[in-house]
Amino acid sequence: MDKSFIYLTPQEQWRDIILQTPQEEREYVRLQVEAEGQACVAFFCEALLQHADVADFLEKESIQKSLKRSLYYYLVSLFSASPDHVARLCKIQMRLGASYARLEIPTHIVAYGFYILKKQILGLFTHDDAGGFDRSGLILYAGSMMDFAFKFMMRSYEKSFRKMVEDNEALRLVSIGQDLSFEKETQARTFFTWSMETMRAVCEKRFCDLENLEDSDFGLWFTHKGRNLFNGRSEFVQIQREIETIDTQLQTIRQEGVLPDRFVASLHRSIRKIVFLMDSIFHNIEQIETGRDPLTKVLNRRFLDVVVQNEISFALAKNKHFSIALFDIDNFKSINDTFGHLAGDEILCFVANTITSSLRVNDYVFRYGGEEFLIVLTETDVEAAHKCAERIRLAICHIPVTLRSEQQVRVSVSGGVTTLHGQTNVRTLINRADQALYTAKANGRNRVVVAHTPDMP
Ligand code: GH3
Ligand code: MG
Ligand code: MG
Repeated sequence: MDKSFIYLTPQEQWRDIILQTPQEEREYVRLQVEAEGQACVAFFCEALLQHADVADFLEKESIQKSLKRSLYYYLVSLFSASPDHVARLCKIQMRLGASYARLEIPTHIVAYGFYILKKQILGLFTHDDAGGFDRSGLILYAGSMMDFAFKFMMRSYEKSFRKMVEDNEALRLVSIGQDLSFEKETQARTFFTWSMETMRAVCEKRFCDLENLEDSDFGLWFTHKGRNLFNGRSEFVQIQREIETIDTQLQTIRQEGVLPDRFVASLHRSIRKIVFLMDSIFHNIEQIETGRDPLTKVLNRRFLDVVVQNEISFALAKNKHFSIALFDIDNFKSINDTFGHLAGDEILCFVANTITSSLRVNDYVFRYGGEEFLIVLTETDVEAAHKCAERIRLAICHIPVTLRSEQQVRVSVSGGVTTLHGQTNVRTLINRADQALYTAKANGRNRVVVAHTPDMP
């Protein structure tokens, strides 16, 4: 390949591929694709239908009928392109990519489909008689055409897919923005109503009055609004399965007019399971709603990676300092064991408040784990971060905490501090703070240790 190729724009590269292939060779490839393309496409469709995941995205009928035909014309037009048609060619690929994204066909399936198709097309030129042309030239040309088509397709696929994810996320946030506790109560009530009426109908043997859960007020809400709120959560899928199981049983009962053995017990179990799952799913959503930890009101981990990554990028771009401090309450388990879990919660709030009030408005505090807090110290070098962490440590162990029960507890924390230094990975930075914290614990607790970075004395 000529080195100048890599300095061309993608569109110019594609044009170059066509331009560098003699017209007779291109014409030969086009004729072969025109003659044999139907068979290649048929093979492609068979491969697609065999693929375990395809049924979730494409209907068998549409693969057999419209896809077969449109794919053939697509291939013929791809291999009919002249250098002047590249702009149009790119547009077609981008449009296709966007429509695959709209159908939410996963990239691995699109890639697999393209692989099968490419293999079939290249297979047309491996015979001894290749129209008297150099076979490797034909294969290289046909392969490059397919690769560039795929590349442009993926470009718009990625863009459209990202936009769709963002739109879904926005929709989810809008849905959350509507009064979540109101939704929660309404759903609990509608589910309770369905449960009571179903139980009554079962007990009174009024089987034809049994209403499918999916068609009930609860079921309709769950299918439509619930999907926006909870999609992608494991609890959502579990509830869906539970609804399906219940409805299948109800349908059999309605049809056959008899109750299977132990049906009431199993229905009762399913109802309890759904109540439990709905509770936990709403609980999780409520936490995400604010991005805050409900107990201590500091940030939860959801946006930690984004915040730290943004600060790393900012520090690198503006040549600023940036540090992290990680704190862990000492012997917290024994505080819980001695004073009880609620007292433990009070201590957690006390530590979170002390940390928050020791910081500037431009710093962030996250509840990193059960009794661990991570502090993002913006525009702060290692000495300043160390001083700040010491200030926090002293403020916490300075005087005993008075609990609501009036008992007094001595609390201390250990801390690990690290600063951005020559690496840009969020995880590496946090791990370094974690190791320093570990050293602080090993050295006797109630202390702050600064992580060693490569060119520190
Ligand atoms: P070390 O000094 O080594 O950190 O000892 P530790 O006892 O603090 O550490 P360990 O990891 O053994 O125990 C942490 C405890 O924190 C155990 C867990 O039950 C408790 N914990 C975690 N989250 C919460 C919470 O939200 N509330 C309360 N009360 N306790 C919690
Ligand atoms: Mg811990
Ligand atoms: Mg601890």
